[in-house]
Amino acid sequence: MKLLDGKICAESLVAGIAKRVAGYVDSGLRKPHMTVILVGEHAPSESYVKSKITSCDSAGFESALLRFPENISESDLLAKIAEINADHATDGLIVQLPVPKHINPQNIINAIDPLKDIDGFHPTNFGRMTLGQKAFRPATAYGICKLLQFYEIPVKGKHCVVIGRSNIVGKPISIMLSNDFEVGNATVTLAHIETPRDLLLDETRRADIVVVAVGIPGFVKEDMVKDGVVMIDVGINRLENGKLVGDVDFERVSTKCSWITPVPGGVGRMTVAALMINTLMAYQNNFDLV
Ligand code: NAP
Repeated sequence: MKLLDGKICAESLVAGIAKRVAGYVDSGLRKPHMTVILVGEHAPSESYVKSKITSCDSAGFESALLRFPENISESDLLAKIAEINADHATDGLIVQLPVPKHINPQNIINAIDPLKDIDGFHPTNFGRMTLGQKAFRPATAYGICKLLQFYEIPVKGKHCVVIGRSNIVGKPISIMLSNDFEVGNATVTLAHIETPRDLLLDETRRADIVVVAVGIPGFVKEDMVKDGVVMIDVGINRLENGKLVGDVDFERVSTKCSWITPVPGGVGRMTVAALMINTLMAYQNNFDLV
């Protein structure tokens, strides 16, 4: 078993981005700029936002963290987003999810200028990605593809099973792995809560690559996969003892894997790296650099 180390891969990608940014700055351009909006207090979000800001520093980007109280109204938040959309000094904008219950997250996603939508959640980017057009690709799914590419894991022609169909992870990764992309051309099965258990087992037991994003600790057990499987664990679950674990029973399943992502240090790191790639792309679009 070998580790698909998201830390090593992310550091390599971010170092490459920093080099390109240094070149742009040397030629007289400003630095790329990411703005992150955080509403209310949510411990996991605090930690995700912190790692995004830290990664901006490593990539040579400028960043701004805008905090709003839990009780901000949806209309006030939309007005703030409109303001940032119009700001030429911001290349990429993220609204950290989840937002408080009185705010409809889809209204927030829809309000972000698709040209600044570095999370890749806006319907325009999601639609363009689905059609195989140039787009900001949803960051976690894009990060998984970059990780597979970095470790030269063959994907073309392989049988992949994705467990979980959320708009931010399962759905986009199932589309990206099946599209005619540089990391793609796989035959993909997408499983979800309505997938009968015996059908799920039939599929996972013959899968070459399994991606799991359900948010249930230890969901994938050793009897669910074949020897040599490539296992991508997207889950981030905090146990009562404070330990962070994924959706895979790592200790037992890893003995059967050819490659597996650790949690932490796997897909989470790649999500942030993909955001850096998307922000660089937004900046390059702004300055006609590509
Ligand atoms: P989500 O929105 O809750 O979606 C979970 C998906 O899993 C749903 O599609 C659900 O099906 C499906 N599901 C639940 N139980 C299932 C079961 N027993 N069998 C088959 N499918 C089942 O979660 P998410 O946002 O995708 O996140 C999933 C996990 O990944 C969480 O632990 C989250 O913290 C983590 N995450 C990590 C990163 C990262 O950067 N590493 C990024 C995002 C999320 P239905 O649609 O039918 O309900």
